[in-house]
Amino acid sequence: MRVAFLGLGHMGLPMARNLAGAGFDVIGFDVFPAAVEAARAAGLPVASSGTDAATAADLVITMFQTGAQVLDAYRGGDGVPGLREVAASDALFIDCSTISVDDARAAHALAEEAGHRSLDAPVSGGVVGAENATLAFMVGGSATVFDAARPLFEAMGARIVHCGGAGLGQAAKVCNNMILAVSQIAVAEAFVLGERLGLTHQALFDVASNASGQCWALTTNCPVPGPVPTSPANRDYQPGFAGALMNKDLGLAAHALDATGVDARMGRLAREIYREFAEGPGAGQDFSGIIHTVRAHSADPA
Ligand code: NAD
Repeated sequence: MRVAFLGLGHMGLPMARNLAGAGFDVIGFDVFPAAVEAARAAGLPVASSGTDAATAADLVITMFQTGAQVLDAYRGGDGVPGLREVAASDALFIDCSTISVDDARAAHALAEEAGHRSLDAPVSGGVVGAENATLAFMVGGSATVFDAARPLFEAMGARIVHCGGAGLGQAAKVCNNMILAVSQIAVAEAFVLGERLGLTHQALFDVASNASGQCWALTTNCPVPGPVPTSPANRDYQPGFAGALMNKDLGLAAHALDATGVDARMGRLAREIYREFAEGPGAGQDFSGIIHTVRAHSADPA
């Protein structure tokens, strides 16, 4: 089976390497020359263009930043053939980028119109998960196609969930990250309130982590140094999961909220709070650094 892996960035390169390491015949490509160089240096075979990589490929995986990039690559244009035109017949197209549900469904349609099979399969777990092949895959598409693709996901990840039909992998991702954003802000606000009330971070942690305030944003990604030694707060908020990426994902959530009309006031407020965070130094910080914003916006104690 010939695998074209397009998009060899922070996530794509380690994922492609894990696939190659599991015995798949992988050829990669990235439009960014430094990413191509890094792939070569890592020993991954690299093609001279996306078209070359995908020509006669049985499997085409994309790991890009945006839905527009995915749709443009599938479609082609300006004299460049689309990936769907050059791949082997009945190829499997898997897009692992985080994009909107609408764009994911458009990508499915483009692939299927050309006689291919298609899955949307966004991930969580970050660069560490990509390197260690412990990513979580949230997959949308037909059950038969999902079953056929399972060994590929198992070479790159540890938790693989079939979420339903086309676009529903992206739907699961956007819903999960909206929960995460709201809960990370809630935990940060509680720690700042605790500080003002004279409560130590450790005392609040010891209570909330064993009570109904328990959540991942507290017990794994604790926004203050100390209680959880592995949390980004202990390394000056180095990501982890960067504010810029959370802002991007909340933009996708806002798009989905607008499209569905859901009354998600918390989700929309979290989107505004993280947008402001990502417009400043928060872009490159772990998203638990939102606690700095909470402190900065808090009035001086009376
Ligand atoms: P990245 O910017 O490091 O990599 C994306 C790569 O795609 C870039 O190198 C870019 O040059 C390349 N690219 C774009 N268009 C291309 C084309 N037509 N052909 C070939 N290459 C092309 O981004 P990343 O951090 O690897 O993230 C990739 C996706 O995964 C994003 O959608 C992101 O939201 C999602 N994601 C990232 C993380 C993370 O921690 N970085 C975690 C979960 C999900």
